Amino acid sequence: MGKEERGGGGEEYLFKIVLIGDSAVGKSNLLSRFARNEFDSNSKATIGVEFQTQVVDIDGKEVKAQIWDTAGQERFRAVTSAYYRGAVGALVVYDITRRSSFDSVKRWLEELTTHCDTAVGRMLVGNKCDLDSIRDVSTEEGKSLAEEEGLFFMETSALDSTNVEAAFEVVIREIYSNISRKVL
Ligand code: GDP
Ligand code: MG
Repeated sequence: MGKEERGGGGEEYLFKIVLIGDSAVGKSNLLSRFARNEFDSNSKATIGVEFQTQVVDIDGKEVKAQIWDTAGQERFRAVTSAYYRGAVGALVVYDITRRSSFDSVKRWLEELTTHCDTAVGRMLVGNKCDLDSIRDVSTEEGKSLAEEEGLFFMETSALDSTNVEAAFEVVIREIYSNISRKVL
């Protein structure tokens, strides 16, 4: 996955990006907010891997981000190696109102590292920042974990759209800048 030459001299980029993190942190809603500008307050985990392709303009180049959603498999700790295969980016998501989901971040990072050594664009995402009044993980804690692990960091809200586009775009830009130095 990466740079592909097309007939006619154009270049096309296709980046596989995976969403990981505990169940109910908001992965599916981050994806639907980004890809379709939709939020679902009653979202139920569907079974089976799903992905959505979103086209992003990066410095005049058309980049296709193929974003994969675990679609419920994470509940059974059954995210397979096929899910990670070929990913060049990852958003590791926790819920700022649920500390256990923050504590799981290291396990998700280990799994990512085990299955995939190509994920150059990696971001730690503290979702549900609209629920600041019942926050259980401080912004500082998120920042310092991200620094420790060498990840970008943002707090997002799929509900009110805060930083959703920005988070995906930072990851896509990072992948793009790696690719323009070295074709993955
Ligand atoms: P997933 O299991 O990680 O895919 O999580 P979902 O996207 O299915 O979301 C789980 C629950 O959290 C649903 O009830 C969503 O409506 C809710 N949710 C997701 N994102 C946000 C958010 O940014 N703010 C708030 N308040 N709720 C959210
Ligand atoms: Mg989901």
